[in-house]
Amino acid sequence: MVKNIAVIRGDGIGPEIVEQALKVLDKVAELYGHTFHYTDVDMGGCAIDKYGDPLPASELEKCLASDSVLLGAVGGNKWNDVPGPMRPEKGLLRLRAGMGVYSNNRPAKIWHQLADASPLKKEIVEKGIDFIIVRELIGGIYFGEHKTEGDVATDVLKYSEAEIERIGRIGFETARKRSKRLCSVEKSNVLDSSRLWKKVMHRLAEEYPDVELSDMLVDNCAMQIVKNPAQFDVVVTENMFGDILSDEASMITGSIGMIPSSSLGATTCGLYEPIHGSAPDIAGMDVANPIGTILSAAMMLRFSFDMPREAQAIENAVSAYLDAGYRTADIMSEEMTQVGCSACGALIIKHLKGE
Ligand code: NAD
Repeated sequence: MVKNIAVIRGDGIGPEIVEQALKVLDKVAELYGHTFHYTDVDMGGCAIDKYGDPLPASELEKCLASDSVLLGAVGGNKWNDVPGPMRPEKGLLRLRAGMGVYSNNRPAKIWHQLADASPLKKEIVEKGIDFIIVRELIGGIYFGEHKTEGDVATDVLKYSEAEIERIGRIGFETARKRSKRLCSVEKSNVLDSSRLWKKVMHRLAEEYPDVELSDMLVDNCAMQIVKNPAQFDVVVTENMFGDILSDEASMITGSIGMIPSSSLGATTCGLYEPIHGSAPDIAGMDVANPIGTILSAAMMLRFSFDMPREAQAIENAVSAYLDAGYRTADIMSEEMTQVGCSACGALIIKHLKGE
């Protein structure tokens, strides 16, 4: 197969981690007889420096013309004082909205090799951590009106029934393919938008009688994720709650550097990115963990290109790399061999097998 991939290296550690993912994709192409064409796209701080805009229309066009988009991360201290609409993260929000990718899928899964890297007690980890957070991505407070008037600042949180229904369906469909349990997370004891969320989820539940729906308030969910993560299988929630809960969920699996994500809308053209940011504190030091980005590339193969064997081959190679005792600094533990970002990529490629 021939596929065109828009590549956004971004800022901070972005270029280093994306480089490793591209090397892995090249190896997959060689082993399985595919051709991947890459088109570089400028977004984030580097685009502000070059064009004075975090995502010029011409760069968004390149993404829309591709079969999928692979992103490292954007942002950094250098652009902290840039005014709101021109901030690096605005480029990312505009990309997500421009692509119409309303459904963000973030797995929180512990690799058995990294059980010791979890900050949770051993007896909690042993019960298993393997759940997915389905997060609404292009609505809610991040996309509402933002304004500051004098000493008062306002951010608007708004959801329509249609917006809730389309992400709710993804939640039910995802649960249907797993354990058939779906936990809907909101704050319906306080927020109108959450009461609407709950009402729509329960209306949808009638169409999915094989899926058991439960409700949980977001503050309780934050607590339950560290107390008893094994209870969760699929969690569906709105944009900001999902942003916060998925960072929390990633940390209990060991490192934010390990977790990939996919974002999809009505077409197969998706956006794939690790869940962490541009980590300016370690940028350019060749110490970042590229696995979240490499696993994001695997998700791209599975969900956008219908290449499940190739995706599995990447996941197997990551597992074999961990089995062999290699660790980047963020997940380093006793008796393991510490490696840098580029060595991690090279070793994963070494463990990558064709069929
Ligand atoms: P961050 O995720 O960049 O970093 C948090 C901590 O995790 C840091 O100590 C960092 O060194 C570490 N870390 C992150 N990724 C790692 C990796 N792959 N390997 C090893 N360690 C890793 O979050 P932050 O420091 O709050 O944000 C830094 C910048 O990134 C900010 O400008 C923020 O706005 C931006 N950001 C971008 C995205 C994105 O592009 N999707 C997401 C979140 C934050």
